Amino acid sequence: MSGESRDACGVVGIYAPGEDVSRLTYYALYALQHRGQESAGIAVSDGEAMVVYKELGLVAQVFDETVLKSLRGSLAIGHVRYSTTGGSTWENAQPTYKTGPAGEIALAHNGNLVNSLALRDMLEEAGGDPSPRGSRPSTSDTDLVAASVVRVSDGDIGEAILRVLPKLSGAYSFTMTDGHRIYGARDPQGFRPLAIGRIGEGAWVLASETCALDLIGATFVRDVEPGELVAIDGDGLTSIRFAETRHASCVFEHVYFARPDSNLMGQNVYATRYRMGQRLAEEAPATAELVMPVPDSGVPAAQGFALTSGIPYGEGFVKNRYVGRTFIQPTQAMRQQGIRMKLNPLREVIAGKRVVVIDDSIVRGNTTRQIVAMLREAGAREVHMRISSPPIKWPCFYGIDMPDQDELIGANMDIEAIRAHLGADTLSYLSIPGMLNATGIPSDEFCTACFSSEYPVEVPQHELKGKHVLELNALESKTKPQRPL
Ligand code: SF4
Repeated sequence: MSGESRDACGVVGIYAPGEDVSRLTYYALYALQHRGQESAGIAVSDGEAMVVYKELGLVAQVFDETVLKSLRGSLAIGHVRYSTTGGSTWENAQPTYKTGPAGEIALAHNGNLVNSLALRDMLEEAGGDPSPRGSRPSTSDTDLVAASVVRVSDGDIGEAILRVLPKLSGAYSFTMTDGHRIYGARDPQGFRPLAIGRIGEGAWVLASETCALDLIGATFVRDVEPGELVAIDGDGLTSIRFAETRHASCVFEHVYFARPDSNLMGQNVYATRYRMGQRLAEEAPATAELVMPVPDSGVPAAQGFALTSGIPYGEGFVKNRYVGRTFIQPTQAMRQQGIRMKLNPLREVIAGKRVVVIDDSIVRGNTTRQIVAMLREAGAREVHMRISSPPIKWPCFYGIDMPDQDELIGANMDIEAIRAHLGADTLSYLSIPGMLNATGIPSDEFCTACFSSEYPVEVPQHELKGKHVLELNALESKTKPQRPL
């Protein structure tokens, strides 16, 4: 999926009195940077006052030594964002902060609700957003959740969270704080991951992925269970079930989103991707002299493919790792170079060979097409594309930003037509059973909707407008013909 990366968000929560919690949160967010590069933020509390600092940009751009030193406290939550509901604006950066007559909350969200309009109506009926800053409307579902919590609070934010969670539908892994405790919650399906770790006596960490625990020296304890709320304070961790578990974890976390050094549902992501490559070699063998990945996401599967097929593994591309979202947009002429900004083929490795190229997925197909063309220019005799997941045919409504269905190449062409479009000699995808089997986790614990159209949580028609649903709705009501007074 190189060049077409879609991201979720990353969340962190740290309860560590006596430690530099802001710095720990900063490092944990740094480890989760792959999950969102649009904005970053930290909310910190010393039990007296809560401070939220957030800005558009990468973690290392948003925070510097001066900012971190000013964020003092014993607990913090943090967020890196890629927008799934709401545009990329400062207002929509997280953590979201809301205050009402009976308490305050800072909230960080990974996921996407599918009932945000209904939630907004419920909030309006209950009296609206009580926060003074509610007058500045946010266009994110996260804002609605935080406002609903402070609206229903009678002084105990933990109780208020428990009243709001059952009203939510869709995907959410939250970290939250009321200034005294940190909270973590996962939707009943467990779409997005959330891990619990310990960092010394009486100190706890919540993080989207275990790679964040590793970076700050925390020990993995367990995952927050789907349908579970955990509250952490000086008395330790309290667990409350607010819904029955209906497992539907996102299989794409295992295929692409999560970092390979993370463990999800007890399985290491690198090892899972390696097995996906092995499966792919069994399902779709090729005759070639070289197996090469599209870096970096195709590397583990390419190594697995090479082992099982017996075809030597090699690096056919050198990747420029410094091309990020902050990269100055190239001119039109340069843009046509497209993927060359990121990948350069190694002619010496490729020329004259039949090559098997492994990538984790194809979204629109533009990047893959350029990759095939570059390999041919570099002298590849044959190019055999192998994809370590099935064709993506359906959009995601649970927190992964995917293009509309008419832009998904897998939804609009059969495999032979895609192969011809890409210019590859052969093209094969891993099957859905092959992908699920490679995870080592029972297949009924997964959401596979973008491959299979089996959506585990119903998506109301109006939510199908996608990530700008709240903005579009506001615009529509403004542009509706007004009745004369
Ligand atoms: S639709 Fe696809 S990307 Fe979205 S949660 Fe389900 S498996 Fe993950």
